[in-house]
This record gives sequence, structure tokens and C-alpha cells, in this order.
Amino acid sequence: MRAWPSSLRSRLTFWYAALLALPLVAFALLCYVVFARTLLNRTDNFIGDALSAFSRELAAERRSTGTVEAAMQTTVDEVRFRDLEIVILDSARRVVALTALTDDDPIPPGRPVPVSKIGSTIVASIRGYDMTSPLAVTVASERGTYRVISRPLTLRGQSFGLTATYSLADIEDVLARIREIFAIAIPLLILSAATGGYFLAKRSLAPVSAMTSRAAAISATNLHERLPVGGGDELVGLARVVNDLLDRLESSFEQQRRFMQDASHELRTPAAILRAETDVTLSRAHRDEEEYRASISVMQDAARRLTRIVDDLFLLARADAGHLVMHRAPLYLEEIVHDAARGVRQVADQRGVRVALGNVTEAPFEGDADLLGRLLLNLLDNAIKYSPENGTVDVAMAQRDGRYEISVVDAGPGIPADAHQRVFERFFRVDSVRSRSENGATSGAGLGLAIARRIAELHGGQLDLTESRPGRTEFRVILPAIGASASS
Ligand code: ADP
Repeated sequence: MRAWPSSLRSRLTFWYAALLALPLVAFALLCYVVFARTLLNRTDNFIGDALSAFSRELAAERRSTGTVEAAMQTTVDEVRFRDLEIVILDSARRVVALTALTDDDPIPPGRPVPVSKIGSTIVASIRGYDMTSPLAVTVASERGTYRVISRPLTLRGQSFGLTATYSLADIEDVLARIREIFAIAIPLLILSAATGGYFLAKRSLAPVSAMTSRAAAISATNLHERLPVGGGDELVGLARVVNDLLDRLESSFEQQRRFMQDASHELRTPAAILRAETDVTLSRAHRDEEEYRASISVMQDAARRLTRIVDDLFLLARADAGHLVMHRAPLYLEEIVHDAARGVRQVADQRGVRVALGNVTEAPFEGDADLLGRLLLNLLDNAIKYSPENGTVDVAMAQRDGRYEISVVDAGPGIPADAHQRVFERFFRVDSVRSRSENGATSGAGLGLAIARRIAELHGGQLDLTESRPGRTEFRVILPAIGASASS
């Protein structure tokens, strides 16, 4: 059982009909009351005019007729108005003169008013009248409704009550017709307005239904579909907002999909190497130690690569989810830079590359020493990897405008302009085939710069490629120098 319609369409229709019905009924009532009042006023004026005419006529008649009573009856007989009856009572409340309702049925003067003529209710209302003041009442009698107006009349010291009764049957008929018209027209008007309102609401809300069914049909497999845009500014706005949301969802889904694809692709290579190497090694029952060693070394490389990729992915995933536990502590950035440079020295020597540490000043900072070390190692790794033989990797540090700047510069071939921003994307490599084949199983999976940038951001800083052309490539880390003075 529902007390209130749940559909917006029905509610709109209800309110529409109710808001129309209320003023309509109020207006109809007002019109009716004003009209009824006006009719009654006009009736009263008419009766008043008739009584004045009667009084004038009576005054004229009295001059020619002997007795007051005879003059009254004569006047009553002569002054005839449609639907108007005149009764004159004396102070003893006897009928002195009376309009003959029908010519063949006159009421002789001096008799009490016969009930059948003007009705007992009217008679009763006149009987109770003291004849000293005017009277105007509406009386419902068995013969119908009458307007009764009385005026005191004094002639030759005698008091009379001059009363006129006027049948309101015609007026009642008119009012009844009006009531009938209203009773039919108002519900009809409200009904047709409600029907119109219902269809209007249905039409206006049709785009919402279309959007609902389309939205319900959209899932991960057809995320490229969009809601229909139309149906008024508000709905267009809503559809656009939802479509924008779908755009973002789709691109995020696409990113996820690409990420999964790239990740599995990267993991597949070392996994395949591991499997192939074990298969080959185990295919013969006996091998000499040297062969086993060589094979295990290949497997070790593959396992290292696998571990590194999984570790990197894990770190990025935790950073994305905001679950990366950072061990923030006061530290000196120049020490981190020194340690990183020392850490890569052996690899650099192997490649005949020199790592030159420039002007490095004391730089107190608060952060995670391991993560910051990893950031620098990733940059130095790349710089050494892409340096020409006998080249130099310059590492410098400066403090300006309340921030630390650490730059790593190499004299390698540089990064093509269209890849300047993409190098920070996950799994992106400028020339994936070359870099992998050249550096073997230990080469990066294209995650190094993504991780480095993330670490800089986690410390409230940034990592940018500030310059890259053949012979000079510069990556710059910027970290805020705030709060650093507290540690020493
Ligand atoms: P990877 O671990 O594979 O090196 P990175 O995210 O560190 O991945 O780097 C992404 C790509 O950016 C590299 O594959 C390389 O093409 C390019 N790159 C990074 N550093 C340099 C550099 N110093 N000189 C030239 N190219 C670079």
C-alpha cells in the first residue's frame, strides 16, 4: 500500500492539478457569492422601488377614496408587479389589503392571511414583525424562497406594516444553473489539465527514461557508449556530466587495461627465460658444473628482473592507493646524493663513465631516505646507461627560493621531443627493443622514471626533464626546503 505516488510524473501531475484546482475553486466560489449578492441587492432595490411606487400611489388614491382600508386595497389591486405580492397588516396584525394572487380568488379584507396564499413561513415572519422598523429577510416557505421586505406605514395616526414578498424562484434557478455548470466544468477543467500535465510530464521526463535505460545498459564491456544528450538545459547538463564521468571512467579503464597488458608483457619475458633455461638444463641427465653455473646465472638474472618489476609495481600500486608507508625522518639530502653516486660508481666504471659530483652544500630535509635514494639511483642508472663511453654524468645540487634542486646531466643521445613527457609514464621506453636487447635481462621495464617522479611527489616536490638534446639531457628534482632547519 503506497500513500504517495513514487513516480515523479504522478507527483508532478498531482501538484499541477492541485495548484490549478485551488485557485479555480476559490475563484468560482468568489464569483458565485458576488453574483448571488448582486442579484439579491437588485431584488431588494426592485422591491424597494415597488414599495415607494405603492406609497405614492396610495397617497394619490387616498385623496379620492374614503377609507384608508379601501384606498389600500384599491392601490394594492392597481399596483401590480410581476412576482411581487403586497400585504398590509394593521397594528392588530390583521390583513388590511393583499395582492389578489389570482383574480378569481380574491381574499376579502379583514380576514387573516390564508396560509395557502403566501405561505405560512412568510406569514409567520410578518406576524412576528413589530412594524416600527424596516425589515428585509429571505424566507424559505413551502411555496418556495421569498424575499420579504417590510416598512412601517403610519396613516392618520394608525400604524400599518407594508410588506412586499418577491419570489426568488427565478434567481434560485439561475444560481442552481451556475452551480451545476461549476460542478461539471471545474472537475472537467482539472481533469483535462491533469491529463495534459501528465502527458507533458511524461514528455519532459522521456529523456530521463532514455538516459536511465541507456545508463543501465552500460558496463565495462561497452564503456564507449554515452547517454543521449537532449530534453532541456537541465537534462542536457546532467547527460553531459554523466558522459564526462563515463569519459574519465573509460580512460581510467583503458589505462588499467594497458597497464595490465604492459605488466604481463614485461613479466612474461623473464618468466619465459626462467622456464626455457630450466627446461634446457634439465633436458640432459648430467652436465658439468660450469654448464650448471652458467645456466643458474641466467636464471638468477631473470629472477632478479622479475623481482625488480614486481617490487616496482608493488611500490607504485601502494603509492596509488595511498598505502605506501613512508619512514620520514630528518636527513641530509647531500648525504643521499653522495650515497647514490657511490652506489652507481661500479656500474659507471664498467661502462667507462665518470660520475662528477658538483657543488653539494648541506641540505637538511625530512623524508624517507630509502625512497629518496631510489629516486636518485633511478636517475643515475639512466644517465650512466645512456652516456657515451668515457662520458661524464654531472650531479649538482642547489638551494634557491626555499627549495632544493638536484640535477642529473648526461651527455647521451637525448630523448626525442615527443617523448619528453611520456618517459614518466609507466612501462614507457623510447626504444623498447633496443634498450632491452642492449642491456639484457637487467634493463629496466620502463618503470624507473614513473617511480622516481612518484617519490618526488610523495615528498611534496616534483621531477622534470628540463632539457634533452643530443649531448645533453638534464633531469631535475625539486624538493621543498621547508621544515628542514628543525633537523640538525
Ligand atoms: P627504464 O627503467 O626502462 O630505463 P625509465 O622509466 O627509467 O625506464 O625510462 C624510460 C625511458 O626513458 C627509457 O626507456 C629511455 O628510453 C628514456 N630515458 C630515460 N632516461 C634517459 C636518459 N638519461 N637519456 C636518454 N633516454 C632516457
